[in-house]
Amino acid sequence: METKLLTNDDNSLIEAAELLKAGKVVGIPTETVYGLGANALDVNAVADIFKAKGRPQDNPLIVHIADIKTLETLAFDVPDLAYKCAEAFWPGPLTMILKKRKIIPDVTSGGLDTVGIRMPSNRYARKIIEYSGLPIAAPSANLSGSPSPTTAMHVFNDMNGRIPAIVDGGMSAVGVESTVIAFDNDSIRILRPGFVSREDLLDICKNVIIDKGVLEQLSPDTVVRSPGMKYKHYSPKADVTIIDADTDKFREFIKEKADRDTVCLVFDENDVKGIDIKNINYGKDSKEQARLLFDALRHIDEIGAKKAYARCPEKSGVGLAVYNRLLRAAGFQVIKL
Ligand code: AMP
Ligand code: MG
Repeated sequence: METKLLTNDDNSLIEAAELLKAGKVVGIPTETVYGLGANALDVNAVADIFKAKGRPQDNPLIVHIADIKTLETLAFDVPDLAYKCAEAFWPGPLTMILKKRKIIPDVTSGGLDTVGIRMPSNRYARKIIEYSGLPIAAPSANLSGSPSPTTAMHVFNDMNGRIPAIVDGGMSAVGVESTVIAFDNDSIRILRPGFVSREDLLDICKNVIIDKGVLEQLSPDTVVRSPGMKYKHYSPKADVTIIDADTDKFREFIKEKADRDTVCLVFDENDVKGIDIKNINYGKDSKEQARLLFDALRHIDEIGAKKAYARCPEKSGVGLAVYNRLLRAAGFQVIKL
């Protein structure tokens, strides 16, 4: 199959929507990362997403909508708290886990009786959904296990020959996947951290819990609320280790370890000043790091490094999302100095 790169003019967005209506899988830009979209209600189309990605069948997909009316057609017993969250954060990078209606096939929900729903803010994503008139199931558009794609080229590198088209919407503004939350009585449980942070959610609800799976390694047979959290994820081929240290200690450590096969993921050049080692700058603050992390992870392999040492991001705010992704890329290897 030839993979067509579409631009983001209206004709291209209509072409993408027509492909979705015809049951095809299309790479679409969103503000979080690029998604691999298909009709969420079409069993065969959704099965093709799993095939294109090589994704485990029990890992459910997020369903994307363009207007709030659609929510009640896909989910029931939607709590008031969910409407408050929608009002505060939609359209935007927040996914809510709700009880699913029968119209959502099991293949979309990974066999669960819930469905994750999100209304993206990216204008191309919204237009594609609107033009298709369908709820669109879309996981990140990478091969299962690889870093998520934040540009159309990343998608092309992973999906060339596997899907009919990719819409180029430029670089994803947020850069990490959506915050995934579930509702427990009057509390919110963060199953996956994202750009909408715990601190943001505390403005809506005083009880916001961070699920165990966010920072701990779960064994593959653990029964979890968010199946995606137990899989190997975001991994470059190189061996990644997080170095939890201040600038001086980081630099000392790197000076000792520096060799030609190693690369550092740094906040700025200062972190490796005076040391002869390859480095990739992944941003000074959490928002910039969220935007640049996945490109940096892909870059590690492109430059052929065998080992990577990454400076440890903040563990709060948007930084928690960056830390969560980097932990998985590093297979939970952290050295604290
Ligand atoms: P991705 O499609 O790569 O953005 O990953 C989607 C994430 O949302 C995974 O971590 C899933 O486990 C999670 N997710 C999607 N739907 C549900 C659901 N119904 N219940 C719990 N987690 C979900
Ligand atoms: Mg993913």
